[in-house]
Amino acid sequence: MAAPWPQRSRWGGGREGGGWAAGGRAARAAGQMPGLGKPSGQLVMPTFHQQDTTPGAPGRLRRSREESSLRCRSRVLMASLSRALRVAAPCLRRSPAQGPGLRPLASGAGPTIEKSVPYQRTLKGAQDPSAAARGPSRPLPSTASVVVIGGGSLGCQTLYHLAKLGVSGAVLLERERLTSGTTWHTAGLLWQLRPSDVEVELLAHTRRVVSRDLEEETGLHTGWIQNGGLFIASNRQRLDEYKRLMSLGKAYGVESHVLSPAETKALYPLMNVDDLFGTLYVPHDGTMDPAGTCSTLARAATARGAQVIENCPVTGIRVRTDDFGVRRVAAVETEHGSVQTPCVVNCAGVWAGAVGQMAGVKVPLVAMHHAYVVTERIEGIQNMPNVRDHDASVYLRLQGDALSVGGYEANPIFWEEVSDKFAFGLFDLDWDVFAQHTEGAIRRVPVLERTGVKSTVCGPESFTPDHKPLMGEAPELRGFYLGCGFNSAGMMLGGGCGQELAHWIVHGRPEKDMHGYDIRRVCGHLRFHHSLTDHSRWIRERSHESYAKNYSVVFPHDEPLAGRNMRRGPLHEVPHP
Ligand SMILES: Cc1cc2nc3c(=O)[nH]c(=O)nc-3n(C[C@H](O)[C@H](O)[C@H](O)COP(=O)(O)OP(=O)(O)OC[C@H]3O[C@@H](n4cnc5c(N)ncnc54)[C@H](O)[C@@H]3O)c2cc1C
Repeated sequence: MAAPWPQRSRWGGGREGGGWAAGGRAARAAGQMPGLGKPSGQLVMPTFHQQDTTPGAPGRLRRSREESSLRCRSRVLMASLSRALRVAAPCLRRSPAQGPGLRPLASGAGPTIEKSVPYQRTLKGAQDPSAAARGPSRPLPSTASVVVIGGGSLGCQTLYHLAKLGVSGAVLLERERLTSGTTWHTAGLLWQLRPSDVEVELLAHTRRVVSRDLEEETGLHTGWIQNGGLFIASNRQRLDEYKRLMSLGKAYGVESHVLSPAETKALYPLMNVDDLFGTLYVPHDGTMDPAGTCSTLARAATARGAQVIENCPVTGIRVRTDDFGVRRVAAVETEHGSVQTPCVVNCAGVWAGAVGQMAGVKVPLVAMHHAYVVTERIEGIQNMPNVRDHDASVYLRLQGDALSVGGYEANPIFWEEVSDKFAFGLFDLDWDVFAQHTEGAIRRVPVLERTGVKSTVCGPESFTPDHKPLMGEAPELRGFYLGCGFNSAGMMLGGGCGQELAHWIVHGRPEKDMHGYDIRRVCGHLRFHHSLTDHSRWIRERSHESYAKNYSVVFPHDEPLAGRNMRRGPLHEVPHP
């Protein structure tokens, strides 16, 4: 039967073998999960080492005790360093060498500094400010074969792939300008290896589109930078996971290398490797540029006959019932007229729930804040690979001669009232929430302790109950497709998923096995019962857990802790004999 609620969250320690940073996160997470309902019992999960009963385990257990005593000492040291930094923070902030507005990453709470994205070019300023008032960027057609709603990563990729499959008369309607939702402020990281063969293929396709296909078709550079990717293993389980990823990559032609700490130091001299078991280096990983990618996708799609119409919010979806009593999409309504169409694709990001409501379709996702900060210049960081330190839940993205530092917190902030006026917007960064990443980031690249923060980037992103996107035709309405809920991976998955969505629409099914992303896994009798997709507390609590566990080791048969007992099977109450 379902286990009772945990009194103290043990996600980090239980899942990651009590890793140094993981232990810290677990401790912070304990009692800090306001969205996760009222605890009603105690579930103490064994640590990974305690679970280990394979031959040779006693030796490993002894080793793990030595490691954990070492880690305890390190934690004490780190705690005093953090205390010292907090005391020193006001002085550090006043240091004239940092210049106005700069604050060191190590400092604690303080005034919010400049909010701005680190990109030289965005599409925000690329339009005459009075254009929006003049209405749609081009006349609305009266009919369309497909209407894609939303001009972010997913909408642009889907339109491009529809056009490539030969669909004529596809139209993209964007409320404001392309990229103006979440896409404009993305970090744009593309890692090619994930623990799923289908996802490895999806990622490979995105990489092909942004690094090769679009440039060949349009002669334009999308802004793709191939600086490589480096995954950090600070415990043995993580290194084992990376070895599995490397094997998977081999099968799909993704070059990767497991490096020793010394080899890692040679590759990334600014990195502290003292606590590392090893790293996984993927030389052809890289970074996508949001404005460059979306504008080039739009250019390539329109060259093949598709239309992109900006400043055109969709206000309604008209539905008809056919002779067999089946509900079907009939038209899309806007403030500037309607477009008759048998097919709509909901690529509206965090607004996908509102667009779904227009059609009576449930879209189980929630909007949360996700953030990174951009540092000032760091000598010697140029050309370094992007870094993902899973055990510290932190990523470091190369930003020219600086770094962007981001991560996933155990206590993320929900965007409770998603505003339809939010375009090219950013939230104020909550340093109390974000500060939990500084320790991990500084431990990995110690020079960050003395480096100022130039700007903060905190924006909305959608998260789903099982951390997988929502795709495919909605079971409630024929002709209504979803391409949303991307859990902070909508840039890197965009190309692969756009291609699958286009195939789904044209051929009635995706080309790859997309069961894990199919909306019917949630709504039908597959994985979740449809009663849950209408259950806002279940969606919220499960999505919260999926955000917090974004970087956790993926173990087989993992069962989420959130949302338990909200729906019980018929045998739930049957007593044990
Ligand atoms: C800080 C941060 C860092 C990130 N870093 C990465 C990363 O490194 N790698 C990665 O892969 N992903 C990353 N992500 C996630 C990624 O950026 C998103 O998953 C992706 O941009 C989402 O694209 P989208 O097209 O689904 O949504 P959006 O970009 O939000 O696009 C939706 C569009 O729909 C439009 N719209 C809404 N309602 C309507 C309507 N009624 N009518 C017409 N148009 C409408 C909106 O204006 C918007 O332009 C990050 C996210 C954040 C917040």
